[in-house]
Amino acid sequence: MSVITIDGPAGAGKSTIARKLARRLGWLYLDTGAMYRALAWAAKRTGIAPEDEDGMVRLCERTEIGFENGRIMVNGVDISSQIRTPEMDALSSLISRIPAVRRYLTELQRKIRGTGDVIAEGRDMGTVVFPEAEHKFFLTASLDIRASRRMKQLEKAGCYVPYEEVLSQIQARDEADSRRDLAPLRPAPDACEIDTTDRTLDEVVDFIMAFLTESKTGCGVKGPQTTS
Ligand code: C5P
Repeated sequence: MSVITIDGPAGAGKSTIARKLARRLGWLYLDTGAMYRALAWAAKRTGIAPEDEDGMVRLCERTEIGFENGRIMVNGVDISSQIRTPEMDALSSLISRIPAVRRYLTELQRKIRGTGDVIAEGRDMGTVVFPEAEHKFFLTASLDIRASRRMKQLEKAGCYVPYEEVLSQIQARDEADSRRDLAPLRPAPDACEIDTTDRTLDEVVDFIMAFLTESKTGCGVKGPQTTS
């Protein structure tokens, strides 16, 4: 089974790009952020505080997370429409620091990868979960464009948040994700970095498809150099 990893900060276009790539290739799309969000949702629902490590360990033991037809399921219930809120943004980032949470979800992600070819999207796909991936991409974009994209996503989900607020939330979350001890947000040394600021997400998908077709070892944007 093959795996391609797409990592990067919030609002860099990862989800849209990974979903489109998976569709074009006929591979599974593994949205690992949704898995952290699902666990955050379950913690909130059962009243477990994000700093209660023992409580989170017990929660992992009794929570079944999975995907069905692209929907995220918790113990058989579709919660997809409830996890894309500013509250779940912050809560998922908080619980993602807990070792037991990362162990539980990493194992689950590797299991899903065993069921087919996967486009795996998240923060630590290329560095920790699938270091052996055939191709690794790390997407970035300016803070301004990431905040605008995130604001549009939230609006689409029926949640209006002022631009300045989205911007400071994104900044705080990226900082927390980058600074945590375990599996911090950072490009794998062999990842191809792509700045999506001045490109449409479809252009980035086309670029990655061309890159995969030509099977280059360097992407010419930023990342490892071509050796041949
Ligand atoms: O990608 P998304 O914004 O849905 O991720 C929500 C949060 O889940 C991130 O801010 C991060 O803290 C956490 N996460 C993670 N590792 C991943 C995917 C997401 O720590 N592979």
